[in-house]
Amino acid sequence: MSCIPNSVCKLCRRENMKLFLKGERCFTDKCSFERRPYPPGQHGQSRLKFSEFALQLREKQKAKRYYGVGESQFRKYFSEADRLRGVTGTELLKLLETRMDNVIYSLGFASSRREARLLVKHNHFLVNGQKCNIPSANLQKGDVIEVREPSRTVNKIMAAVESVKKREIPAWLEADHGAFKGTVKDVPARENVTLPVEESMIVEYYSR
Ligand code: SF4
Repeated sequence: MSCIPNSVCKLCRRENMKLFLKGERCFTDKCSFERRPYPPGQHGQSRLKFSEFALQLREKQKAKRYYGVGESQFRKYFSEADRLRGVTGTELLKLLETRMDNVIYSLGFASSRREARLLVKHNHFLVNGQKCNIPSANLQKGDVIEVREPSRTVNKIMAAVESVKKREIPAWLEADHGAFKGTVKDVPARENVTLPVEESMIVEYYSR
């Protein structure tokens, strides 16, 4: 699991966008980015010129932090995407989107990706009827995710399901919150990825 500092809100301010790392709080006016939408630090509000490399680095960091993936794991995703047939940047985003923790969060069974990761590790979910506690497991089209019967009263899961109306379930997923189930209807397409990132710059960053 990647190392996420306590002051996660600084990451949003650094990337100049909401990364939704703190669950419920991200949708309230307590959100730090809403109150201080500029980078942290002494020069946060000054106008800085970024080099091409710095811009590429920021795009990579943005995606890495959004999905909560560590540096070496992110690099492995890039290598895997590079080996696949499609456009490397798009394949990279597809691999990140189909991670089990991202799917659990996107379905509304956790209030953040970070929380989803912990819930998965604690064995609260089944995939196609089998226990799965690997947050990085890539799910496939047709996979059915289910909250285990005894876990349906877990406060964090119940609270996430309760507040899911604030978020839109991506079109490539289908959720049945009453039955604590979700299905991967399709492989995510580029337009299903809501993260505003220029993946071509990530490719350029790793191709230096
Ligand atoms: Fe980011 Fe959420 Fe903190 Fe807002 S509350 S700055 S979206 S982590």
